[in-house]
Amino acid sequence: MYGTHGTRGTHGPGSGSVALSVVVPVFDEEEVLPLLVARLRPVLDGGGEPYEVLAVDDGSTDATPRLLEELRTAWPELRVVTLRRNSGHQAALTAGLHRARGAHVISIDADLQDPPEVIPDMLALARADGLDVVYGVRGDRTADSPFKRRTAAVYYRLMRRLAGAHVPAHAGDFRLLSRPVVDTLKALPDQQQVYRLLIPWLGYPSGQITYRREERGAGTTKYPVRRMALLALDSVTSFSAVPLRLATAIGAVSLVVCLAFLAWALTVHATGNTVPGWTSLIITMLFFGAVQLFCLGMLGEYVARIHSAVQARPTYCVAHDTDEAQR
Ligand code: UDP
Ligand code: MG
Repeated sequence: MYGTHGTRGTHGPGSGSVALSVVVPVFDEEEVLPLLVARLRPVLDGGGEPYEVLAVDDGSTDATPRLLEELRTAWPELRVVTLRRNSGHQAALTAGLHRARGAHVISIDADLQDPPEVIPDMLALARADGLDVVYGVRGDRTADSPFKRRTAAVYYRLMRRLAGAHVPAHAGDFRLLSRPVVDTLKALPDQQQVYRLLIPWLGYPSGQITYRREERGAGTTKYPVRRMALLALDSVTSFSAVPLRLATAIGAVSLVVCLAFLAWALTVHATGNTVPGWTSLIITMLFFGAVQLFCLGMLGEYVARIHSAVQARPTYCVAHDTDEAQR
């Protein structure tokens, strides 16, 4: 991710711009790449508009880099961006989005789980309805493993609660973005960008295209459970301070409980039904436990504010200003 901000503003619509950029993060996909090209190229060539395909090689260690180089000689529209090391799917997407020149940018997985044939439909829908975002929504996930489907269901339910109900369920990273959305995303200093949450949150006019999630064309998944867990963690922490707030809540509850206990301990003490020393001991213990948790929670509140300041997201996003539209 480092250094990507330096590219801001060096290109955009204007010199060398194309109608469509297709961003494909690629990590060790030697087996599926030829299959992808065989299906993607006819679709894009058939569109009859200038396009570019941005393959972001996310530090592949197999024959992928050589293969991409070979493919490029026969396919002038193919552009290869090579990352120095494996940085993860979302980071590879970021690299692609930051460098794409198209008036529309579509991100698609390399493994053919997202059918390239849907691309023209996305473009047509965006143009017909003047949409800035078109989500590819997986209508049928039977091709995914039961484990993947179950975890996905939990993930999307949680995310809709945290990031808002406008997050479309089962919309992954197969989507179309217009140039204004891409430029807005580029301007965000957010580090762990989780696009499937961030983009709905921006609130641009959007539509959906439902498609059937296919089996992986070839090769194996590059998303082991560890990476899935990381994505979930990034998703939660980038949209919610709830885990931090938990300490405050627990602290407040224990303070109340402590007060109740205090009253009870004093009553027991007054009636003399206790060992000497027990009352003062239990009160001190409860009191400090509650105070510590509460202070931790307070620290958490400040950390939460620092966290959101570092993310520096805009508090609003203007859709339209009548005065500017007149110019
Ligand atoms: N990918 C990547 N970097 C990674 C892992 C995956 O660029 O570290 C790419 C991968 O090549 C594919 C896409 O991200 O194009 C989605 O990965 P995959 O299909 O393995 O995930 P799954 O569909 O199993 O969730
Ligand atoms: Mg896949």
